Amino acid sequence: MAVDTNPELRITITGTGCPIPDPLRAGPGVLVQFGELAMQFDVGRSTVQRLAGAGLWPGELNAVFLTHHHSDHMVGLPDLILTRWVMDRADSGKPLPVIAPAGPAVTFARRMLDVWTDDIAIRTEHAGRDGRPEPDVVPFDPSPSVSEVWSMATPHGEVTVSAISVHHEPVLPSVGYRVDTPAGSVAISGDTIVCGEMAVLADGVDVLVYEAMRFEPIEALPEKRRFILDYHADTRLIGGQAAELEVPTLVLTHLIPPPVDDSGRSMFVSDVRTAGYTGKVIVADDLEVVSVGA
Ligand SMILES: [Zn+2]
Ligand SMILES: [Zn+2]
Repeated sequence: MAVDTNPELRITITGTGCPIPDPLRAGPGVLVQFGELAMQFDVGRSTVQRLAGAGLWPGELNAVFLTHHHSDHMVGLPDLILTRWVMDRADSGKPLPVIAPAGPAVTFARRMLDVWTDDIAIRTEHAGRDGRPEPDVVPFDPSPSVSEVWSMATPHGEVTVSAISVHHEPVLPSVGYRVDTPAGSVAISGDTIVCGEMAVLADGVDVLVYEAMRFEPIEALPEKRRFILDYHADTRLIGGQAAELEVPTLVLTHLIPPPVDDSGRSMFVSDVRTAGYTGKVIVADDLEVVSVGA
């Protein structure tokens, strides 16, 4: 098969939601592609559905990266691994690398298929299969400075993925990721408050994908529900940081509260503009695509 000359960096937001169900917003996830290389960052609810919408089968993924162990970011992972296996009729697929900061996300990835033992056994026996749906779980020690956690050589140059610890306490560890490709770069916040580590991670990137929460409506909620202010990114601070970084494209996702119309979307834009950001801002819907270079 002919390979693209100069492939673009393609970023698809597979889910823009949060734990609250929304018929139009899958759980958090970002698909990053460079040529034939496909990497999924977090695997929220309905990720396999959105990947199908993006034209990608689970078997075509090269690696999965987890940011932290909140269920909304991982609940789609067993679905992804099981579906990849069910679709692999020839038992030819290699275990999918699942890269995660050492800690509960790694424990989850290692144990998540234990509850599917009966299903796996009956499918194996019925179809006369050899293989088992095992991910290749790869832990790394999260670091307060940007550290490379994975890389892959492609016909068009090397792609590297780096991570840094971010601030989503009390959820420890939590990391953000950065992908550098010959066509450009993207930083993905995972869940965090706006922090200095995010500025270091996103220094010089073409695209910054940030979890975004409008603090104003949350501040008006009953006290019991305001704890989420502790560990999410305030849209006003995101705008200030993106302005300082002079990042060309800012993508807001993991939207709280989820906008249901243009007026809702415009409030997110207004917050980051008021904070001084003048670049391109996208309040993402599921399957939003941003491309860089070519
Ligand atoms: Zn989350
Ligand atoms: Zn979280």
